[in-house]
Amino acid sequence: MNENLKEACGIFGIAGKENTNIYSKIYYGLFALQHRGQESAGIAGAMVNANGFKQKGIVKDMGIVPEALRNKFVEGNFGIGHVRYSTTGSSSIENSQPIQIKCNDEIFAIAHNGNIVNTAEIKQKLRVATFLTTSDSEVIANLIAHHYVSGKNFLECLKQAMKEIVGSYCLVILYQNKIIAVRDPNGFRPLVIGKNEDEEGEICVASETCALDAIGFSYMRDVEPGEIFVAEYAKGMKISSSTYSVLKDKISYCMFEYVYFARADSVINNASVYQVRKEMGKILASESYVDADIVIPVPDSGITAAIGYAEWCIEHSKRICYSEGLMKNRYVGRTFILPNQADREKELCTKLNPIKTEIDGKRIVLIDDSIVRGTTIKRLIKILRDKGAKEVHIRVSCPPIKFTCKFGIDMQTAKEFIARDKSIDEIAALIGADSLQYISRDGLVKAIGTENLCYACLTGISPVTEKQTKLIE
Ligand code: AMP
Repeated sequence: MNENLKEACGIFGIAGKENTNIYSKIYYGLFALQHRGQESAGIAGAMVNANGFKQKGIVKDMGIVPEALRNKFVEGNFGIGHVRYSTTGSSSIENSQPIQIKCNDEIFAIAHNGNIVNTAEIKQKLRVATFLTTSDSEVIANLIAHHYVSGKNFLECLKQAMKEIVGSYCLVILYQNKIIAVRDPNGFRPLVIGKNEDEEGEICVASETCALDAIGFSYMRDVEPGEIFVAEYAKGMKISSSTYSVLKDKISYCMFEYVYFARADSVINNASVYQVRKEMGKILASESYVDADIVIPVPDSGITAAIGYAEWCIEHSKRICYSEGLMKNRYVGRTFILPNQADREKELCTKLNPIKTEIDGKRIVLIDDSIVRGTTIKRLIKILRDKGAKEVHIRVSCPPIKFTCKFGIDMQTAKEFIARDKSIDEIAALIGADSLQYISRDGLVKAIGTENLCYACLTGISPVTEKQTKLIE
């Protein structure tokens, strides 16, 4: 099994009203988070009320949500769910989530999004634990269990574990009568809280707000970096929530969530992903406008930035039209993770097809969100030229990616990165573009609207050092 598993996943948790079943809400929440992971899906549930709780088990399987959860059901008004992102070679049912851990004769279920960087040290510390999977989530769960055995209360153990884990982690935990949400002190991955306006007290947490929209919940706020948020049936009949600020560090939201990973209709870290992507397109145009006839996106990832680019052109009286140009077959899976280059290129032809009438004889600006290996863009330039494009200018709404991501985005093979050791002119020549420009790093930061970002994949400089992490409670 692959030891370098990346856990770029989607998580969901909900505390629902007594005597209801929240399975379908978790199902549709996960469905909305499907873009964050297509390898496996799972749900854990429990019946909870003011008098107690009863764990109801877990269902999970390989595949996208409707495949993995077909004909499956878990009872419960409290529950958590997970969709897992696959990377080459790491696909296995053992690594699917949520996972259950037994400690002190009790069971808790946990789902994780992120990637921790000190698993080796933690595993060494937990010498007694037997690991059934290669996933970080099991290491986190065992670390919590390790402290729990030593007799403290669960939240104290969780806080202790947070102090020891280095890296990116958003967690949802189903423990006794509680849904517990945790976000690492850097806030790499997004995690939001929503409430049901129709059913007083119902609360959910999700990787992105698109999951709240899918079940009719409204966005309350983000789980803050370093926060533990708890929803539970305490005394009385209502769900109550409490929050603990555990750790403080330099906030470092992953910029790639805005560039590519999150859904454009989500709000994360209090910013609309759609607005940010459009702004990226506008800034890209302002930095690297080129005279052309049409601007077209690489669907779907380049669409919002291309709209922004075209809007900037209109605002500046440039004669250029937005056009689709390339049609995507949305029933083809992801080409990005296919194991070899020849397969990736072949699949791409099936996935994206040019519209000759839009392209023939035109000078084209083609917008994509990012270039990693350059496979997609090189192939597309050739396809456009074959259909009669006069010029193809490439504009990219993410600066050159040169370093692997340690914090959960699938970018594992730095030597394959086209920008790793080449100048922009060299890359343009290699992919066959008439011109190539990336958004600047300042432009990217301006579009996102905060400097509290992780862009280690651009600079190689990690925002995490163990010593930086300060205890505030
Ligand atoms: P490449 O063909 O290797 O240059 O990959 C770039 C294309 O893949 C772009 O169109 C991106 O939208 C997409 N992409 C970038 N990063 C990822 C990722 N981590 N997972 C899946 N797709 C990605």
